[in-house]
Amino acid sequence: MRIGILALQGAFVEHLGILERLGAEPVLVRLPVELEGLDGLIIPGGESTTMIRLMLEYELLQPLKDRAEASLPVMGVCAGMILLAKRVADSPLQSLGLMDMTVRRNAFGSQVDSFEADLDIPALGETPFHGVFIRAPVIEAANSTVELLARLDDGRAVAARQGRLLAAAFHPELGSDLRLHRYFLDMASGGPPVA
Ligand code: GLN
Repeated sequence: MRIGILALQGAFVEHLGILERLGAEPVLVRLPVELEGLDGLIIPGGESTTMIRLMLEYELLQPLKDRAEASLPVMGVCAGMILLAKRVADSPLQSLGLMDMTVRRNAFGSQVDSFEADLDIPALGETPFHGVFIRAPVIEAANSTVELLARLDDGRAVAARQGRLLAAAFHPELGSDLRLHRYFLDMASGGPPVA
């Protein structure tokens, strides 16, 4: 499977090795033409405002939105999750507007810049997933078509799926647990079924 990694800015390199380890063929994507022939795309963490600006500059925003609306599976991590959301609370940020949910950027404030938490993610099995959060967003609200996959102990939602779209507020590429990437590859190849 050819899986693109949006490589305009941010933490894209780490996804390369993980995809290779899982037997997929990673492709760095910077130009619209590089969207062709992909079976899925990862939008990495980084700075959502910068990423949007570069996507507009590279004329990638609309082609990517079109491809995702047409069926391209997309996984968004942290800033990537912000770009997938239809609504960004208290922010005029333009996004791809694909997942029917509202996210809040930098939801943990400047005092808690980064933290780690073991997450219960039933879709990935019983073993908790160690989540690394870096200036992370949260999902504040979601339409019933969005399945919330993970919550922090205080109840805030930090991962979600809507059809072929997958979003995580934490960084699954910063660790040795490959389950979220594997889940995305399964999604991209047609399974597991939507709950
Ligand atoms: N705070 C960043 C933003 O608002 C996201 C941080 C990240 O991707 N690690 O875009």
